[in-house]
Amino acid sequence: MAAHSSSQSDIVVIGGGVVGGAIALGLARNGARVTILDEGDVAFRASRGNFALVWVQSKGLGMPEYAMWSRRSADQWSVLADVLQEEAGLDVAHSQPGGFMLCLSEAELEQRRQAMHRLHNQTSLADFPYEILDHAETKRRLPDIGRDVVGSVYSPLDGHVNSLKLFRALREATERRGVVYRPNCTVDRIAARDGGFLLSGAFGEIAAGKIVLAAGLGNARLAPMVGLDAPVKPSKGQIIVTEKTAPFLHNPMVTIRQTDEGGVMIGDSQEDRGFDTVVGQPILSVMAERAVKMFPRLAGLNVVRSWSALRVMSPDGFPIYDQSASHPGAFLVTCHSGVTLAANHALTLAPAILSGTLPPSLDAFSARRFHVPAHH
Ligand SMILES: Cc1cc2nc3c(=O)[nH]c(=O)nc-3n(C[C@H](O)[C@H](O)[C@H](O)COP(=O)(O)OP(=O)(O)OC[C@H]3O[C@@H](n4cnc5c(N)ncnc54)[C@H](O)[C@@H]3O)c2cc1C
Repeated sequence: MAAHSSSQSDIVVIGGGVVGGAIALGLARNGARVTILDEGDVAFRASRGNFALVWVQSKGLGMPEYAMWSRRSADQWSVLADVLQEEAGLDVAHSQPGGFMLCLSEAELEQRRQAMHRLHNQTSLADFPYEILDHAETKRRLPDIGRDVVGSVYSPLDGHVNSLKLFRALREATERRGVVYRPNCTVDRIAARDGGFLLSGAFGEIAAGKIVLAAGLGNARLAPMVGLDAPVKPSKGQIIVTEKTAPFLHNPMVTIRQTDEGGVMIGDSQEDRGFDTVVGQPILSVMAERAVKMFPRLAGLNVVRSWSALRVMSPDGFPIYDQSASHPGAFLVTCHSGVTLAANHALTLAPAILSGTLPPSLDAFSARRFHVPAHH
């Protein structure tokens, strides 16, 4: 499909991370002419530093809709992987073998058990499968665990991908669909014009009928320009990667996974923060020490890289999806698990944005929730 000039765009997506890329792909697949404006390499890019889990089991304590939304995306992920294979010619190494949370003390396991119980009580979803496993059963399924592992939580819903390949595939697929990607285009101002929007910055101006704010941490500044609210803040995460080694870990853990290329990633996932006081410390040595207790063979591997990146965190940790009431046609999309939710963003959210209305099932994700006074 031939690329179109960006002046003809129906929709401009601000932000070319994994969230903006997935939305743009979904819009283009449904026939929209799309331009992505991306700030470029000076920006914080959560999409390039992530842990690549497609994770469900611990999500949604405090918002059952988020548990269901995460599950839906995990269910749809193989469809997205097929789309990317077909449209970009790239295998993003998606698999859903089930994931474990390993616990290193009885107290930790008990904390997990209670958290899962609370999570499932509120969702009242009988079909959210998970198991609490003791050491012996965990070892039967993961023979390489160390003796410090007292047990685990297992869910067959969890999986992972190769997130750098995902990022590349989104770029490739959107380009083949004619999406115009414009790097080094920081949007400084958004104004309403002619029933649509005029975006401007050092790059010049561009008009759009609709806009999608998918600028990660940049959304906080942009949202008020069109009557939206994105009170997102950075939350730092650190990741260690080892040298490549023969495949031994076929399931992802919430803090350890072996990539399709053989390296082992060790991270301090905070996706379940709020009830986890043990795993949240952003200190590389603590992460490494815990990882070696979980899998002693990791002690023999060299670390080849480590980095930190900033998550895009809302006040309650849940995504924000909104259409502006004062500026209809301006949409906001922001979340801290853009890999997990990529399938929903491309396959469900993008068509809804194109139709002009977000479905009632997404009402719970509006930023209005931050402004409603609590009443008991
Ligand atoms: C350490 C870590 C681990 C993670 N692990 C996981 C995981 O295991 N599973 C999972 O699902 N998710 C994970 N994530 C989150 C994931 O990486 C998502 O990318 C995240 O949800 C945010 O994506 P994003 O596209 O919104 O933001 P970003 O990747 O930050 O992209 C935003 C883009 O907007 C652009 N931008 C900003 N302001 C402007 C502007 N004014 N004009 C134009 N462009 C602008 C920037 O240039 C940037 O490219 C992790 C994140 C981190 C940091």
